[in-house]
Amino acid sequence: MTDTVSVDLGGTWLRIRVGSATERFPAPSVLQQPGLSVDRLLQQLVDTLDVHVPHGARVNMSCGAALDEQKGVALGSGPLWGGAPSGEIPLLHMLSSRRPDVRWTLVNDVTAGLASYAQGFARPTDRHLAYITISSGIAVRTAYLAEKVVPVDHRGLQGEVGHVRAVSSAPPAVLQLPCACGGVGHISSMSSGPGVAAVAQVLGIDYEERSFASSLAEGTDDLARLLTVVVEPIAELIRTMITLDPRLDRIGIGGGVAEGLVGFYERELIAQLAGSRSYADSLTSDRVREIIHVCAPGDIDTLSGADAIADGYLRVTKI
Ligand SMILES: [Zn+2]
Repeated sequence: MTDTVSVDLGGTWLRIRVGSATERFPAPSVLQQPGLSVDRLLQQLVDTLDVHVPHGARVNMSCGAALDEQKGVALGSGPLWGGAPSGEIPLLHMLSSRRPDVRWTLVNDVTAGLASYAQGFARPTDRHLAYITISSGIAVRTAYLAEKVVPVDHRGLQGEVGHVRAVSSAPPAVLQLPCACGGVGHISSMSSGPGVAAVAQVLGIDYEERSFASSLAEGTDDLARLLTVVVEPIAELIRTMITLDPRLDRIGIGGGVAEGLVGFYERELIAQLAGSRSYADSLTSDRVREIIHVCAPGDIDTLSGADAIADGYLRVTKI
């Protein structure tokens, strides 16, 4: 029987699951190894997978990069490679050249997260379902459940919202924060994991990722203000998504930043979204609660999501 190996390449960890055993390694990423070139990081990735993948296996790999899944080409990733490398990265070709015995399927990690979220939480009446990941980077994917598709553009992309300008009422120093992609004031600059730390620094707020949730539980005012600032671009994004797509029935929010603060994040998000601003706003707190769902740690499994996509649970399509 062919072994199935599931891989999750994130900015922080590279996880490899063979059978029921999952191993975790520091990711071959600029986030983990800032001194290394993109070429060296890719070499390290291929070397590590070469060692761990059994002969003749089927590998389903979730990748934390903007990715053309049809061509197996990566277009860029802030956390992995510090933005867009010069030219596309022929990831599938690199892996297949080293291990031609393996059947590789590359899946964008947000698409894998979306598949996992849909498997766990889609309701029978949900028409369009979106998943937002808020971790070392930020992106959204939306699935059309009736058609079982994830539509993408001609480059294979959908929902790379981390690198659009944030809508924010924060002070100018926050709006000028640099982004890992090379831009300024992007949603990722202020709402991703590194973004939260950067916002805290420019606002002079004493912040530690590990104790953020417990400090919020103690009612620390500065940290409550920090949460308000970093959630605002996400709330504005979601408000726009709901306004543009009347069939968007469910939005799951996962990733380390949101999951690590699950109750606080959800309360803050719902409070910001439920405020009605004009006659065009249809968001009551009941409707927001119907749509929004902040995931708890363990709700989303990108390894299973990558397997689901490889098995055709949702089809990523340019058509
Ligand atoms: Zn950016």
